[in-house]
Amino acid sequence: MTEVAQPMHRPPAVDKALKWPDMQALVAIHGRALVLECLRVALESWRQGHISDEADVLHAVQRQIEQLLAPSMRAVFNLTGTVLHTNLGRAPLPPEAIEAMTAVAVGASNLEFDLETGQRGDRDDHVEQWICRLTGAEAATVVNNNAAAVLLVLNALANRREVVVSRGELIEIGGSFRLPDIMARAGCKLHEVGATNRTHAKDYVEAIGPRTALLLKAHTSNYRIEGFSTALSEAQLAEIARAHQVPLMVDLGAGSLIDLQALGLPAEPVVSRVLQQGVDVVTFSGDKLLGGPQAGIIAGRADLIARIRKSPLKRALRCDKMTLAALEAVLRLYADPQTLVQRIPALRLLTRSQADIQSTAEQLLPRLQAWVGEALEVDVCAVSSQIGSGSLPLEVLPSAALRLRSRSANKRTRSRDLRTLAERLRQLPQPVIGRIADDSMLLDCRCLEHPETLLAQWVTEA
Ligand SMILES: *Cc1c(COP(=O)(O)O)cnc(C)c1O
Repeated sequence: MTEVAQPMHRPPAVDKALKWPDMQALVAIHGRALVLECLRVALESWRQGHISDEADVLHAVQRQIEQLLAPSMRAVFNLTGTVLHTNLGRAPLPPEAIEAMTAVAVGASNLEFDLETGQRGDRDDHVEQWICRLTGAEAATVVNNNAAAVLLVLNALANRREVVVSRGELIEIGGSFRLPDIMARAGCKLHEVGATNRTHAKDYVEAIGPRTALLLKAHTSNYRIEGFSTALSEAQLAEIARAHQVPLMVDLGAGSLIDLQALGLPAEPVVSRVLQQGVDVVTFSGDKLLGGPQAGIIAGRADLIARIRKSPLKRALRCDKMTLAALEAVLRLYADPQTLVQRIPALRLLTRSQADIQSTAEQLLPRLQAWVGEALEVDVCAVSSQIGSGSLPLEVLPSAALRLRSRSANKRTRSRDLRTLAERLRQLPQPVIGRIADDSMLLDCRCLEHPETLLAQWVTEA
């Protein structure tokens, strides 16, 4: 009896499959280890009866390699309408910052080396003079983010001692940053004063005692207490702090280096003005209104900054060379007040006119309508963008969005259509993230300065 080949039932040996010319081609591109790993998975899948021939194996290996090697973190289009979106990476960086990061990333740099003296330098040196110049502070230091800045200042200045804070300012930001928790981790004892809505000067004065190390004011970035409320100004608090020889720290959160109101934006505390009121130390984020990389900036009195810099926690929370390079480049852009708003993307996007945004949306409309098909109705409508990152949640910026609505009369179908659309948008080569509101998908075009790239995707997908 002649033997009948039965290749369909039993998978080949690994060694044999690895020698297939097409498999060898994959090895040449991706290396033997990776191909072997995926091949074993594919052959197991054959054994279990899910696939049954050579072509299937090749296909499975190829797909698995692609999935493995696909970058997890990718560029997306932020059409949510929230400019400084924490989940989408906050501030976009200017080209100057990208170039500066690349320059130090490829090789050695003078990160902690003083080129003038040939001695060891401090990594803060690259940004400190700029921060001081732009805020009027005597000294400054930088750490990984603003939460770290708050932790570090509290620990360095008030470990095992008391910090006086108003009950109206015991903030939580983004769920994982709660002032009382950070304070406990910093080794400080929280001394709450006043009531949620009202805190008076005498509340602070009565709380100050021999164990008090610091007065803390936290900018209530992401909410506002309105109506019957009183909080002390920085100047009033500074007076109390000075009279009792206790330093005053203010956590500004976003903290702008320039007056946003002058740009037609809602007011946010300006760092230099806050320091002028007599505040001893401020902390603020590098990637919120400043428009730079993720960082926490600490600025204020030289003696306090020196103590903060000496803390072992500073070493643990310090920034890497790329962050410092990017931050320095962004701070340098602030040297020219005439051009900074145009050159710092976060500020440029925040100040973009509604007319300009609307024209972007209108330019996209026909191609989007063709891409989504007739089941969805597309138009351009006026919306409100938000600054984001906890800044000014009550204030909004007039903007324009592409609005997509299902034409179905059935509510369930409409909501399913929107979910399907959202998924399709997320699956684009450069995913598009919008927001769903009032039975429609809104694609706010504020952060879309170059619609060509998006238009190109809608063509290939159609
Ligand atoms: C955003 C914010 C923080 C945290 O800053 P990160 O840069 O996100 O670490 C802390 N305090 C306030 C008031 C904030 O607004």
